[in-house]
Amino acid sequence: RLEIRNVTRRIDGRAVVNDVSLSIAAGQVTCLLGPSGCGKSTTLRMIAGVEMQDTGEIWVDGKLICDTVFRVPPERRGIGLMFQDFALFPHLSVADNVGFGLKGPKEARRGRVEELLAKVHLHRYADLFPHQLSGGEQQRVALARALAPRPRIMLMDEPFSGLDNRLRDGIRDETLALLKDEDAAVLLVTHEPEEAMRMADQIALMRDGRVVQQGAPYNVYTRPADKAAVAFFSDIN
Ligand code: ATP
Ligand code: MG
Repeated sequence: RLEIRNVTRRIDGRAVVNDVSLSIAAGQVTCLLGPSGCGKSTTLRMIAGVEMQDTGEIWVDGKLICDTVFRVPPERRGIGLMFQDFALFPHLSVADNVGFGLKGPKEARRGRVEELLAKVHLHRYADLFPHQLSGGEQQRVALARALAPRPRIMLMDEPFSGLDNRLRDGIRDETLALLKDEDAAVLLVTHEPEEAMRMADQIALMRDGRVVQQGAPYNVYTRPADKAAVAFFSDIN
């Protein structure tokens, strides 16, 4: 479970993230939606631990991972990351990309890599290199790599925006099934209301650094909190 409590980040005197609180249970997907510049990526960076908040606390599975004085380093937070430009390591095979963050005995690592490659239907591609794969296939390798160390939390920042429309729906569904299967708490940033309606257990609408509305997709869609939220959903029907 991921809990963010009253997190604020000021840059040049402006609160780019302003008193944000969110809670995401294991196996649940929360979609963070909002206009460009509203503070979505900054929120994710603070959870990942690559940027420090000015106030507030972040908890993972009941353990404090950072407040304003205490800070667990990014690599020890149990958090998986997937961003739009999910760079695979070009000089490593598909299998070595997926196994990159794994520790422990060789056999166990190999078993986990095989399990994940099977789940993303790329077990025949283990020995290929990233440049030999299509965009959608590379995307699935990146997902397998992020999930390999069994992160309790997955942070995804517009992970599908680099894919063409034809591929996107299929990969979204596949990704969602795999995330549920791995039982991670997921925070997914998207620009697309349709994507949120399709994937989210909970939607959080952000504007000017604040979460202005939070709830089940159906409730947010049918009872938008303000004009901006109405406008946001107006292009779905
Ligand atoms: P987008 O949808 O375009 O990705 P976003 O919601 O992810 O937008 P952020 O990247 O979180 O937005 O940025 C929020 C605001 O904070 C923006 O106005 C941005 O310019 C500003 N900002 C973020 N990081 C910095 C920084 N290091 N220095 C100065 N301004 C920053
Ligand atoms: Mg962003």
